[in-house]
Amino acid sequence: MSKIVVLGAGISGHVAASHLRRKLTKEHEVVVVSPNSNYQWIPSNIWVGIGRMPSKKILFPLAPLYKKKGIDFKQAKAVTFHPEGDLEESKPYVMAEYVTGDKQGTQEKVTYDYLINATGPKLNFEATNGLNPGTNKTYSVCTYTHAEHAWDGLNNVIQEMKQGKKAKILIGTGHAKATCQGAAFEYILNVEQELRKHKVRDMAEITWISNEYKLGDFGMDGMLMSYGSITMKSSEMVEMIFEDRDIKWILGAGVNKIEDGVAHYENLEGDNKSEPFDFAMLIPSFSG
Ligand SMILES: Cc1cc2nc3c(=O)[nH]c(=O)nc-3n(C[C@H](O)[C@H](O)[C@H](O)COP(=O)(O)OP(=O)(O)OC[C@H]3O[C@@H](n4cnc5c(N)ncnc54)[C@H](O)[C@@H]3O)c2cc1C
Repeated sequence: MSKIVVLGAGISGHVAASHLRRKLTKEHEVVVVSPNSNYQWIPSNIWVGIGRMPSKKILFPLAPLYKKKGIDFKQAKAVTFHPEGDLEESKPYVMAEYVTGDKQGTQEKVTYDYLINATGPKLNFEATNGLNPGTNKTYSVCTYTHAEHAWDGLNNVIQEMKQGKKAKILIGTGHAKATCQGAAFEYILNVEQELRKHKVRDMAEITWISNEYKLGDFGMDGMLMSYGSITMKSSEMVEMIFEDRDIKWILGAGVNKIEDGVAHYENLEGDNKSEPFDFAMLIPSFSG
């Protein structure tokens, strides 16, 4: 009999736990340790962040499903790893700290035979001075709560535009080392479309700001895309889309500081510049 502990119930942890439970016989134990009571389908946050989807549509509670499937769920976060055990515990274990209920704050040694660490990225907002979602007019769509706040912020700006106030919208990466440019790219196009829907597109200047060297780089040196017999570089595709939608762009920008409505950045020439905005969604850097 083996005990497999999965840390994290995001896309990778949840998929791993579900497959293990399906493939292993009942004498093997599958345990999930994760601090969030819900599973969230993160890619759909680009719809939550424009008010087209309520966050409840991209969530489901983990506990009832895991109970039904025979997966042991601990709503806790892993705080330390002990792969060689300790003086009292000969098996490897993870120290888990409960985050809710009667056990909140208490720690438990969760022993394992096999461990899957699927805790995802840490959203490292602190790496950029002032980049804290919901402050300084900056927002994020990295979690469903962030995306809900982003929609509140965007909707306020939309309502102001309806009253005749022009607005600057800045979307992209909030740190020189930020990745996940694709999520910001999807979001900027959603925002642009949403402004058209609200008939305020002419009131907004929309700018893409990114640490990418070229448009369409997406942190993976670009792509070649085939449409029927035509092959196109992603740089050409993104340039075409941005020009068609009157979206301006700033490239090679390492955003290093946010003040209320201003993003400060250094470009690849070493110049320090700043860009004002009324609403910004900037992806933070990730760390482990
Ligand atoms: C807006 C947006 C759109 C995206 N769109 C796409 C897309 O179209 N295609 C694509 O491939 N990717 C997309 N991505 C990226 C994709 O969402 C991530 O790569 C993916 O969610 C990573 O999955 P994960 O399971 O590794 O981490 P996560 O989904 O972040 O899950 C991590 C889990 O670990 C838990 N956890 C954290 N700390 C601990 C701890 N100490 N102990 C235990 N558990 C812990 C968390 O609560 C969470 O349950 C998008 C990202 C964003 C933000």
